Amino acid sequence: MMEDHLTLDIEAAEFIVDLSNVVRNTSLGVGVARLSRFQGLLDALRRFARDDQVLVYAVADRSLLHGAGLSGQEEAVLQRWARDGLIEVRPVADDRILEIAHLRDRMIVTDDAYKEYHRFHPWLVGDCNRFLSPYPDPRRPGAVAVRRRVIPKFPEWELSLVEEERELKDAGLRGRNAEQRRRTLLGRLWECPVRDCPLFGRPLRAIQPVARFTGRGAVCPDHRLPLADRGRAPRRAQVKVLVDGAVVTRFTLDEGRAVSVGRAPVRAGVALMSWLGAYPPTSMSRTHVELMCEADRVVVRDVSTNGTEIRRDGGLTRLSPRRWHPFSPGQEVVLHESTVLVLSGRRRYFNEADEAPPPPPSHVDPTTIEGKNGRITGSRQTRRRTRRR
Ligand SMILES: [Zn+2]
Repeated sequence: MMEDHLTLDIEAAEFIVDLSNVVRNTSLGVGVARLSRFQGLLDALRRFARDDQVLVYAVADRSLLHGAGLSGQEEAVLQRWARDGLIEVRPVADDRILEIAHLRDRMIVTDDAYKEYHRFHPWLVGDCNRFLSPYPDPRRPGAVAVRRRVIPKFPEWELSLVEEERELKDAGLRGRNAEQRRRTLLGRLWECPVRDCPLFGRPLRAIQPVARFTGRGAVCPDHRLPLADRGRAPRRAQVKVLVDGAVVTRFTLDEGRAVSVGRAPVRAGVALMSWLGAYPPTSMSRTHVELMCEADRVVVRDVSTNGTEIRRDGGLTRLSPRRWHPFSPGQEVVLHESTVLVLSGRRRYFNEADEAPPPPPSHVDPTTIEGKNGRITGSRQTRRRTRRR
């Protein structure tokens, strides 16, 4: 079910999908627009991230829901998703996609080069960990694959032409100070004056989508009205468990509450037993580590018999037992050589060893880069779900 992969919880989402762009991508099959292309993309992202439950934050242009070439049935599906708060619908999606991706450091799945935004978002250009682009999978007829893509720097004259077509009304908001301010506003709970607002209405969603931040402060992206600040939002973090390089399950850390992880934690916790095969490594303790989300970071503590290592910057460091250590995105907590914990939402998708040479600076690059060995992980079914609450 496509719904199972949709979330407006940016902490849980691994990718931001430019939904209109994908659905209208005619290279992915006949017809002007097809929702099946999005289904194909989700399958591709599952393979790419080696995560059967991969979650995406999808943003669509409003026009996609009305007369953009989708069937009435497909339009009804999108309208339902929007109503249920599974996708965001914006008059123009581009700006919003870039805003969220930048604030939360996520990869964007699209074919668009966002030319008219290069001046405002210089980070768009030249980074091979920013964009994925879907294309027809040459090894699976009818299927979609994704590859990394670098947006090249366009000649200045070309940019100027595109920019002239665009109204730059909120240019003053895009300085560095403004960006700092928006980041501090991310950790708040917001309420929309429109009571039944699906995003910020009453009762407030425990997990809110990203508000829109303008010169007036936080604004409801739906109603364009200022949002009232309802206090600090508790911090959360998503942790993924990888066995042999594939994601087998994920769980959420709520601020201030320690969670035990191990083969079979004595008290409540995350039991990994069922994913470790017939002969689970005995070096892994029943309760191996504890994790906790604090106000500004995640910490980990080794409580095992045989010790825990953390992989950062390519090297392994042993955690001193029973002491809390910081655990940051991109690092791996190693419970056993087969079993590691990582924080969700890291932008860099590969370990150094997996890193393929960056594709040439063109969005029609021929290189396909998938998860290690392009392996499909459909055999491992996960059972815990910690999304939408
Ligand atoms: Zn609203």
